[in-house]
Amino acid sequence: MIETGDFAFEKRLVSPVEADEDHALEKGLRPQTLQEYIGQDKVKENLAIYIEAAKRREEALDHVLLYGPPGLGKTTLSAIIAHEMGVNLRITTGPAIERPGDLAAILTNLSPGDVLFIDEIHRLSRAVEEILYPALEDHAIDIVVGKGPSARSLRVDLPQFTLVGATTRAGQLSVPLRDRFGVVQRLELYTPEQLADIIRRSSMILGIPCTLDGALELAGRSRGTPRIANRLLKRVRDFADVIGNGEITEDIARVALDRLEIDHLGLDSIDRRMLGMIIKGYGGGPVGLETLAAALGEEAVTLEDVCEPFLMQLGFLARTPRGRCATRLAYEHLGYPIPEQSAPMDSGQLPLVD
Ligand code: ADP
Repeated sequence: MIETGDFAFEKRLVSPVEADEDHALEKGLRPQTLQEYIGQDKVKENLAIYIEAAKRREEALDHVLLYGPPGLGKTTLSAIIAHEMGVNLRITTGPAIERPGDLAAILTNLSPGDVLFIDEIHRLSRAVEEILYPALEDHAIDIVVGKGPSARSLRVDLPQFTLVGATTRAGQLSVPLRDRFGVVQRLELYTPEQLADIIRRSSMILGIPCTLDGALELAGRSRGTPRIANRLLKRVRDFADVIGNGEITEDIARVALDRLEIDHLGLDSIDRRMLGMIIKGYGGGPVGLETLAAALGEEAVTLEDVCEPFLMQLGFLARTPRGRCATRLAYEHLGYPIPEQSAPMDSGQLPLVD
């Protein structure tokens, strides 16, 4: 989970970051096999081969790094890997492993072949990372026993295990750590058709009737992210029960999402406020992130992690060395008249990204 520092943002329906109330919902919806896992075909094909090869050789699978935005299925894939390999899964996160001793305790409790999943692996401290290197390479850790001059280092052998690391920020991973992963896979945003398949699968599991058109309407507004798709499904169900006959149709989905202020591209009121502020408050930009955050009464890190990736992907927002700019597409989407000057909007192209 990304630390946004803002509780309100975690509550956003279109936040890709896991909120507390997602937990129970997601538990029952996670696919358990590669076959059930929808989309990410390249990643699935590669993993299927590596898993089969490791099983034939009766070895642990090589260490796997999964990277990509939150909510795309990294945790789910780690569980699938463990399931397909027929081994146990141990789940933890980078920030939860505070001291080298915490990691040593986890590692020495693994059984042969086990999968250790570390979410947000880019947030491991340097001291913890140092312990991890020999564990990954030589299946051993060096534990320091005692203090001061009498301290000595004790080598403890570990069983063969597979580390599955997940990160939203592959660029923040140290090079030595990154180099120790034999398999590195990037997860992509899902197409609306794939998301509609995920929604249909979830609706069957949850017993929520949903037409194909209804699923496609939800999918189009889910920002390419299964976590958001599942959340919208759950929320729109209430509308289907109250204003319809319980079935999520295209009309019901459209009415519900309009009422929830999630537009046909998946932008919510906070995205629109951010773009509107750049356009109305700062003439389209450039405006510094901190200034923008202060004007909106939000934290800069929140805007950066939660709003910007999707707005940039849509081509609505450009990051320039002098600050953030709204693009011509953003003006058009929000219905503002497009001003004459300014290169980024005139060309409809994004300026150079810093
Ligand atoms: P991440 O670890 O990348 O944040 P998760 O693995 O927790 O994402 O996935 C979030 C939710 O989306 C899960 O509940 C899971 O059921 C669903 N999900 C993710 N990927 C898929 C997929 N390929 N097929 C079906 N459901 C998926």
